[in-house]
Amino acid sequence: MTFPEQFSFSFLDKLRATYGSPFYLYDQSRLEEAAQATLAFPNAFGLTVRYAVKANPNRAILQLFHKAGIHFDASSVFEVERILQAGIPASSISLSSQEFTAEDVRILETGITINACSLNQIQLLGEFRPGSEIGVRFNPGKGSGGNNKTNTGGPESSFGIWHEYADAVKALAGRYGLKIVKLHSHIGSGSDPELWKEISNSNLDLVHQFADVHTVDLGGGFKVGRVEGEITTDLQAIGAPMADTFRTFAEQTSRKLHLEIEPGTWLVANAGFLVSTVQDLVDTGARGYTFIKLDTGMTDILRPSLYGAQHAMMVYSSAPTRLSKKDYVVVGHCCESGDLLTPAPGQPDVLSVRSFPDASIGDIFVIAGAGAYCSALCGMNYNSFPAVPEIMLEAAGTRVIRKRQTLDQVLENEYF
Ligand SMILES: *Cc1c(COP(=O)(O)O)cnc(C)c1O
Repeated sequence: MTFPEQFSFSFLDKLRATYGSPFYLYDQSRLEEAAQATLAFPNAFGLTVRYAVKANPNRAILQLFHKAGIHFDASSVFEVERILQAGIPASSISLSSQEFTAEDVRILETGITINACSLNQIQLLGEFRPGSEIGVRFNPGKGSGGNNKTNTGGPESSFGIWHEYADAVKALAGRYGLKIVKLHSHIGSGSDPELWKEISNSNLDLVHQFADVHTVDLGGGFKVGRVEGEITTDLQAIGAPMADTFRTFAEQTSRKLHLEIEPGTWLVANAGFLVSTVQDLVDTGARGYTFIKLDTGMTDILRPSLYGAQHAMMVYSSAPTRLSKKDYVVVGHCCESGDLLTPAPGQPDVLSVRSFPDASIGDIFVIAGAGAYCSALCGMNYNSFPAVPEIMLEAAGTRVIRKRQTLDQVLENEYF
């Protein structure tokens, strides 16, 4: 069920009256269920689940996962600071960052763990703290992303150290007495158990070369279905064969490896909704299209424009259920023709239509699958639209977890 049963025009209209339109709505019970499902990931010798914070870094969500026993994967030093400011201990945080400078090395003083993602990063860590324990992120040579923008493994990806450079990694670590205790890889979105098994095996091949490694982190990228026909990764199905590879490895080597996984999308995507309003309807004549114009768009949800991502959508109308349906193109409020919410799958530039009951101005329009990489990854403040609020839907009611930005806040760093 994509949309919660309690969603109806009157339920959502009350929220709209309270918080204004648009807003993100996160279903706490779905977040908690997802947390428990990831914590039940099959494993042979122990498991740490790390939430990839970049998917949705709101403090309330970080605290909810922390309470559930989940740890954290940060992708920048700023994310590390953000997690710490949420009251979460450094011991729960691991950093794997594309950007990591000689100044950023100081972040280690907080007590976090780190995965070096390039040879240069190993050198920086070695110079700053020789003899310390580190993880190393490898690019295992293959990826499984849905497209080039979400693929994070293989020769076209800059993430991690190319797997053929294991000797260079060892030599560099040796020079500084660094002890490599964790191998990490994150290859992008996929739901295929066979591919995950392959990835797990190629990681274990690398472990053979690193005697001190006690933990293997397989990253995230567990795909979720946001619309019909897309597959949500079955964590039990992909995890069980991987646990077997760890057991076999232990039989061969007597090394019982701890497993880490780093789901972002899987934990939050389908717990989030973007609730908006149909603010206009236009058409381009008999041979054209009918457009629903929302009071949201790429300022709050960029995935369709970026990847041609598909999101389930629903119109809630004050009028009695309208039986007739019509094909619509749904667009955002930005003066930018790329602000298209119904692109063809995987083709952000190509219009496609969706069938909805007859829509009217003022109807509530809900976009599902908006918990991951929406609030966190958007064209914020384009056309000077202020960032919209985030609301948590709890058992007892709703709670603002981020208030609406004001125009003054948009302008506050400019000099007058
Ligand atoms: C982005 C990222 C993740 C999470 O990816 P999802 O596709 O959201 O699960 C996990 N680990 C690392 C290192 C990442 O950069």
